[in-house]
Amino acid sequence: MSDTDEVAVVGAGLAGCLLACFLARRGLRVALYERRPDPRAGTAERGRSINLALSERGLDALRRIGLDKQVMAQALPMRGRVIHPVHGNPDFQPYSFDGERAINSISRSALNAALLDAAEGLPGVRVAFGHRLTGLDPDTGDMTFETPEGEVRARAAVVLGADGAGSAVRGRLLAYGSLTESLDFLDYGYKELSIPPRDGEFALDPGALHIWPRGTSMMIALPNPDRSFTCTLFWPTGGTASFASLSSPAAIERHFAAHYPDLLSLSPTLVDDYLRNPVGMLGTVRCGPWQVDGRVGLVGDAAHAIVPFYGQGANCAFEDVVELDRCLDETGGDWAAALPLFESRRRENTEAIARMALANFVEMRDKVASPLFQIGRKVEHALERLLPGRYVSRYELVSFSTVPYAEVQRRVRRQHRMLGAAAAGSALLLGALGAALVNGRRNP
Ligand SMILES: Cc1cc2nc3c(=O)[nH]c(=O)nc-3n(C[C@H](O)[C@H](O)[C@H](O)COP(=O)(O)OP(=O)(O)OC[C@H]3O[C@@H](n4cnc5c(N)ncnc54)[C@H](O)[C@@H]3O)c2cc1C
Repeated sequence: MSDTDEVAVVGAGLAGCLLACFLARRGLRVALYERRPDPRAGTAERGRSINLALSERGLDALRRIGLDKQVMAQALPMRGRVIHPVHGNPDFQPYSFDGERAINSISRSALNAALLDAAEGLPGVRVAFGHRLTGLDPDTGDMTFETPEGEVRARAAVVLGADGAGSAVRGRLLAYGSLTESLDFLDYGYKELSIPPRDGEFALDPGALHIWPRGTSMMIALPNPDRSFTCTLFWPTGGTASFASLSSPAAIERHFAAHYPDLLSLSPTLVDDYLRNPVGMLGTVRCGPWQVDGRVGLVGDAAHAIVPFYGQGANCAFEDVVELDRCLDETGGDWAAALPLFESRRRENTEAIARMALANFVEMRDKVASPLFQIGRKVEHALERLLPGRYVSRYELVSFSTVPYAEVQRRVRRQHRMLGAAAAGSALLLGALGAALVNGRRNP
């Protein structure tokens, strides 16, 4: 192989590192370019999604490269949600009917470090930190990077953009005219806060994801191995009760006292954290096509970033890597065939999870607190117990299976139709029985 036969992966985040592992296992030479310095040497960026929920799709990908056990050793399983009302006691709602299935809280930096170690440990992988892609010629695979030592040029046979929601590779394809994109930002942002350990122990139940649903906004908290919790506020960016409207320490304290009263005693640094931590943006990226001539392609958030309300962005990005590897298998490693095949298989699934993630925001910030929703979940769990394998909830299919996302949507629609028909049938039957009874009474 000459230098130009290398595959370049731009972005050594979650998807990029996993992709480098899968490609190296195929015997390919991989150059992994990352704009940041080596994250294993420093601390995580302040306020940038410190932990995330890893579920079956992500675990399935890690299992394929033998990394699941190592990652899970540092994970904290969350078997349900704890709902924190403004007043009254918190309420635990299990994710699965048997209360056993869990999503897993893991540190983003620990996961990234494990993947980086795995990629670097494979023959054929070289990692270049401090390399920000600034230029790309999709016709030749020529790339330009800004580095601390000045501009660096490189060339690769195939360039894969795994450089996240604000992808520079996508930006170059847009400028080249081969791709169109739409970016739909929510008028909500996110900000991280922290709940430290109390007397050396977790201050809340570490076996659950905590939600403070407040109708038009919410806060969630996930446990960390150091016994702290990372909280994320999902609030409107403008208007009343928004990030923009709350800026003085007194107003912040008043707002939390009114809407999140239990948090004031749990988080002594709340006001400082609130004032210091940045507000992140939330949005959905749609673009296409994801590839040009089998030479340049996009994976993960670079191709299809979604809002985080189903905890699936990274899981979905990992699933991309598994599917791309499968496409390379099926096409004998022919990139010109594999990249379009990958897009044709993944597109409807990534569109489906983008829709479900948006819909889940309403569920998390509003519906979970309603008694009707809670009865609905209990009925769902009862159905899952009664009809094992035949009725499976949407949450279960998304988080605890690898059923393609688009198939999840179709299957849930079928299940709802079936239930609707069963309910209508029962109503008819009850109506007929009622009429027979009335007639029976009239004509003894
Ligand atoms: C608040 C929040 C909570 C979330 N929670 C969850 C969750 O619970 N579960 C879940 O599955 N997902 C979650 N996600 C989504 C998840 O973080 C993303 O889907 C995932 O990180 C995507 O991985 P990626 O590798 O495609 O992109 P990224 O993780 O963003 O990695 C991109 C990499 O590319 C690098 N890069 C960027 N530009 C360049 C450039 N020009 N040159 C070189 N390198 C570059 C970046 O430095 C970075 O290392 C959450 C997201 C947010 C915002």
